[in-house]
Amino acid sequence: MSDALPETPDLSGRVALVTGASRGIGYFVAKELAAAGAHVIAVARTVGGLEELDDEIREAGGQATLVPLDLVDMAGIDRLGGVIHERWGKLDVLVANAAILGVIAPVGHVEAKVFEKVMAVNVTATWRTIRSVDPLLRLSDAGRAILMSSGAAHSARAYWGPYAASKAAVEALSRSWADETKNTALKVNCVNPGATRTAMRAQAMPGENPETLPHPSEIARKILPLASPALTQTGAIFEAREGRFVHYRMPE
Ligand code: NDP
Repeated sequence: MSDALPETPDLSGRVALVTGASRGIGYFVAKELAAAGAHVIAVARTVGGLEELDDEIREAGGQATLVPLDLVDMAGIDRLGGVIHERWGKLDVLVANAAILGVIAPVGHVEAKVFEKVMAVNVTATWRTIRSVDPLLRLSDAGRAILMSSGAAHSARAYWGPYAASKAAVEALSRSWADETKNTALKVNCVNPGATRTAMRAQAMPGENPETLPHPSEIARKILPLASPALTQTGAIFEAREGRFVHYRMPE
């Protein structure tokens, strides 16, 4: 398998769903997808952030549909799949990016409601989104699923327990889904964006100078080729800062 990334894709006529598009990495991935020609369906809770994204996309000649939705509303995720089916009859790109950090604390000190919220947003909502749009991605001639993970899934450093566990779960889901779909046109990959200048990173590392970190627009440009119909990889993790794939062994 070649690990060469496709060129910047032409996504004209393609439909892309981005969760967590109101700020941070999701915002700029949505902008990149729209600039490449995709119609972007942008999901988040903060209407102001979504409207700002919509303004920027339209000014650049692109198109977006805004979906203010709290992803803990699992029935809402199901309805979204139904609406995409009715309006477009397919989905070409999923970027499951929305997540929360929860709390930085020793595993034994984490409050139950915080742990459960991290799992609900990062894991259950991601699974529910996959379940809602899997049939639509299979209706595309080149469905591309991009699930946002983190180095924390592997480093599992002290005090990052709930978040690390949630991202390890996302990677496991993604690998099973990739194996299930390996004989189809759908490609499923995780991304580790690496430390990026966003609100989540500032919450995790309040003492850090954000100017030392890449801007999310830079990371978004590196992620865009994963949406390309020319992509061949599936079941891998894309290390965005280095621009390389890490492959797991696929099941026999
Ligand atoms: P931000 O906190 O900047 O943005 C998170 C996005 O998720 C926002 O748009 C937020 O929108 C949305 N979101 C959170 N909760 C919900 C919810 N309940 N319903 C709907 N949307 C929700 O995070 P980043 O941009 O930093 O992170 C993006 C992804 O990258 C995440 O998956 C994160 O784990 C991952 N990552 C980030 C790294 C970094 O250094 N920044 C490093 C490694 C991984 P709203 O609040 O409007 O709902």
